[in-house]
Amino acid sequence: MAYTYDDQNIFAKILRGEIPNQTVLETEHSIAFRDIAPQAPTHVLVVPRGPYVCFDHFAQTASEAEIVDYVRAIGEVCKMEGVEEDGFRLIANAGRAGVQEVPHLHVHILAGRPLGRMLT
Ligand code: 5GP
Repeated sequence: MAYTYDDQNIFAKILRGEIPNQTVLETEHSIAFRDIAPQAPTHVLVVPRGPYVCFDHFAQTASEAEIVDYVRAIGEVCKMEGVEEDGFRLIANAGRAGVQEVPHLHVHILAGRPLGRMLT
């Protein structure tokens, strides 16, 4: 599938420094910041700096360095936020059916409360 990136999306503006955010981690290819409407005591969004709409787009077109940096950034935030002992959830919404609000790849890290079962 071919993807078109909208560089006016909110996370593109955050990446350009046009919108303030509570940054948790910055790496060469990724940034992590707190969600503006947290759904749990810990709710951090991890975003690659490059213009990728979703995981499929990222996997198809990002460099290996970007992919490794991104996966490590997710792990690093989990460590920094101290969520590994009690547990946490990673979510990546994609497209219409996935109800992806912001069309720039992001993983939600949720932790700090019982998150319930999502899959049966
Ligand atoms: P999605 O539904 O695309 O997976 O999630 C987008 C997330 O971005 C939502 O949880 C929403 O609260 C968050 N969000 C939307 N606008 C902003 C913003 O301006 N700043 C921050 N930090 N988060 C935002």
